[in-house]
Amino acid sequence: MFRRILIANRGEIALRIIRACRELGVEAVCVYSTADKDAPYLKLADRAICIGPAPARESYINIPKIIAAAEIADVDAIHPGYGFLSERADFAQICRDCKIEFIGPSPEAMAKLGDKVECKRTAKAAKVPIFPGSEGAIEDEEEAVKVASEIGYPVIIKASAGGGGRGMKVCHNEATLRTNLRIASQEALAAFGNGAVFIEKFLEHARHVEVQCLGDKHGHAIHLFERDCSTQRRHQKLIEEAPGPLIDRKKRDATCEAAARLIKTAEYSGAATVEFLMDEKQNFYMLEVNTRVQVEHPVTEMITGVDIVKMSILVASGEPLPYKQKDIEIRGHAMECRINAEDPEKNFMPCAGRITTFEPPGGPGVRLDTHVVTGYTVPPNYDSMIGKLIVHADDREQCMNRMARALREFNVGPIKTTIPLHQRLMENADFRKGGVDIHYLERLLK
Ligand code: ADP
Repeated sequence: MFRRILIANRGEIALRIIRACRELGVEAVCVYSTADKDAPYLKLADRAICIGPAPARESYINIPKIIAAAEIADVDAIHPGYGFLSERADFAQICRDCKIEFIGPSPEAMAKLGDKVECKRTAKAAKVPIFPGSEGAIEDEEEAVKVASEIGYPVIIKASAGGGGRGMKVCHNEATLRTNLRIASQEALAAFGNGAVFIEKFLEHARHVEVQCLGDKHGHAIHLFERDCSTQRRHQKLIEEAPGPLIDRKKRDATCEAAARLIKTAEYSGAATVEFLMDEKQNFYMLEVNTRVQVEHPVTEMITGVDIVKMSILVASGEPLPYKQKDIEIRGHAMECRINAEDPEKNFMPCAGRITTFEPPGGPGVRLDTHVVTGYTVPPNYDSMIGKLIVHADDREQCMNRMARALREFNVGPIKTTIPLHQRLMENADFRKGGVDIHYLERLLK
């Protein structure tokens, strides 16, 4: 096991990793920008190093500064968390060159699964269901038109290097496809430094179902079942739950097994999530693979009892996964509400500022992953998520009742948060029935 780990992140995930380190008997070194200098979790680390001013490019995604901090603190490994440098194969390679273990996949496995076109190719070989669409990147307009007429409109143009819901264009006919192709490629080049685009079938009504996987360096990979993350706004997830409600078990199991197969084929080690869209007939189509620990990992931890963050550290140190697939069983139901410092009444405008009231919920089955305490000031520079409320219960019905109860106890002010929106959803008949699609929340908010 490692002696000392540097955490190249901030906020709740930095705290989550500190907690895992502490339980593993590993020292945790935090880095922070000046905007986070008073963050309370820094006191829980064994050491905290300032790496620069608030803008992420001058601190949290500044590779030379992160590496310098790692060398000063003499760490064996770096945990990137999510966001920031977590999906940068070049960063993983630099860590390797500096003889620091990157807690995540090898740069090769990351490149293979992180690029969407490359990932689809690997997925196809591993017999993972993918969207009907172009084989690889689109080389010319005529080819795109031919593929689109074969698979039928609407189609979606995506950037191979895309992310964060950007650079996607839905086309309902040949004329829009032709115009959008050129624009999409130029935009992709400008935004991601890679103009490669591809097309796939666009699903009008779909659910977002993703499979949590774990791989080790000994060629072993397992899945920890699925999460449903269909409650989204602008492609941003707001509620996640596990297991996915109203999904045929056979189809679910086949998809989970396919996801684990993909991870194994890519010789992947660490935590990965294989994302799928599921249509109304419950056919699954792979969207992409996230080559890192995800925000919503706790719901899977609650139903399986597996500590995903600890596992990511364990396998990076070279240990084999201590689980076989048959050891993984689902217990009850878990749900996570993302608590964002945003005003749902004002088009989700971010609300940075000082939190003078912070009364967290508690009681049976309630877990709160947050770095916030009374008196904490939310800096305006980063993501607006200030915490995740996760509850676990015997079944979905009791889980929603418990969530409603916990949300009622949760008092944050004076800044606005997404708590009232979550309360509304816990009482919404469609949401309670389960199986809402990815556009449900946006329709509700109109
Ligand atoms: P990104 O990496 O930018 O997040 P994804 O491929 O994960 O891109 O897609 C993000 C979101 O875009 C999905 O959750 C879904 O809402 C929508 N989307 C992507 N592909 C399709 C598709 N083929 N049909 C319908 N919606 C899609």
